Amino acid sequence: MPNTVILGGSVAGFSVAAGLRDAGYTGSVTIIDPHETALDRPPLSTEYLVGDDVDLALAPDTWFTDNAVTWVQDTALGFESGAVWTANQRFAADHIVIATGATPRTLDLPEPVYTFRTLADADALRDVLGPGVSVAIAGGGLLAPELATSAKQLGAQVTVYTPQVPATEIFGELAEQLYATMSDQVEVVPRRLTVDEELDRFDLVIAAVGVEPAVQVAENTGVTIDDGVVVDEHYRTNLAGVYAIGDVCRIHDQPRQDHWDHGRASAARVVHTIMGTEPDAPLPQWVWSDQFGHDAQAVGRVIPQAHEHLVHRGDNAIFVVDGDQLIGAAALDERMIIRAATRIISRGIAVDPEQLADTDISIRQLTRKR
Ligand SMILES: Cc1cc2nc3c(=O)[nH]c(=O)nc-3n(C[C@H](O)[C@H](O)[C@H](O)COP(=O)(O)OP(=O)(O)OC[C@H]3O[C@@H](n4cnc5c(N)ncnc54)[C@H](O)[C@@H]3O)c2cc1C
Repeated sequence: MPNTVILGGSVAGFSVAAGLRDAGYTGSVTIIDPHETALDRPPLSTEYLVGDDVDLALAPDTWFTDNAVTWVQDTALGFESGAVWTANQRFAADHIVIATGATPRTLDLPEPVYTFRTLADADALRDVLGPGVSVAIAGGGLLAPELATSAKQLGAQVTVYTPQVPATEIFGELAEQLYATMSDQVEVVPRRLTVDEELDRFDLVIAAVGVEPAVQVAENTGVTIDDGVVVDEHYRTNLAGVYAIGDVCRIHDQPRQDHWDHGRASAARVVHTIMGTEPDAPLPQWVWSDQFGHDAQAVGRVIPQAHEHLVHRGDNAIFVVDGDQLIGAAALDERMIIRAATRIISRGIAVDPEQLADTDISIRQLTRKR
């Protein structure tokens, strides 16, 4: 009976286990992760930080028994072809999936600096954030505005230091609108946070300044590492039977992706490889962020290249179009548009830019093949 051992049990690792069972895999499936169970991360910065009773589990405990997936609460220390080990145990493994994610970068400052990635990080911040607390949040990605939203909701006085309009590469022009909303709600300083700032005015600093892939387990194993575990389009490493997915990996000719949907999509791809089945055409990448009352979403690529053009649909949606093909879309508070754009892109449905721009034409109508 074949064995699959998965190192890391958040969205990417868990999705491999679930995908294998859905696909009828009859071998043994083991997930090794230091946490008690499989936890999701996106709700940490939004719902969990400000709310009670937020369930972060990717599946109930019964799921593991029902699906014969073994959860080993431990840290994987290394692997070689056919085996994985922790400090106390060794596991036979025909397939090894590295899904160890990423760890946050921090800032070297005299004030207490918090980072934000895990449940423990969220608990630590919940203990200190509250009315009257003055917090500086540094970062130019999705996380800084999300944390700023929650910190403000908790009554803290928030200052965001960002050297750029956050997440323009994800939301394109719409990132400017998100930035304007954030600037209305909290103090925004348009530069990096360094020791040269007046740090005394803050009780604490949160560094949301990006992540490093958690590659330690793959070091000295012969696996190629270069800003993440390097993989091919099937998420195979250079060692036979060893795969890497989610935030820890990078496809050899592409930048590293650290978004939730990539964790899920890369897992699905590995399931096909292990099962020897043909994958469907990949869906365009989807990213979302909840910040300052906006539901921001994007699918595909929203920065046009030279031969492509940008189409606006009202104030809250943009599309990138190449000839009659849709390449990507971003929208604020317009879920239907993203759903429709995903369908149009993945099915290669021809679009007419004038119709896309016309808010009198329902977007659903454009998802029908002409
Ligand atoms: C607060 C927050 C909010 C986010 N919000 C969004 C959002 O709105 N939209 C979006 O698209 N993305 C968002 N993301 C990004 C998204 O959550 C990540 O891309 C996703 O979690 C990556 O999944 P992963 O399974 O690859 O890695 P991770 O989630 O990092 O999980 C890796 C797991 O591996 C375990 N592990 C590490 N080393 C070992 C080892 N040696 N042995 C065993 N286990 C190990 C870790 O404990 C962890 O459980 C957010 C991330 C954070 C932190």
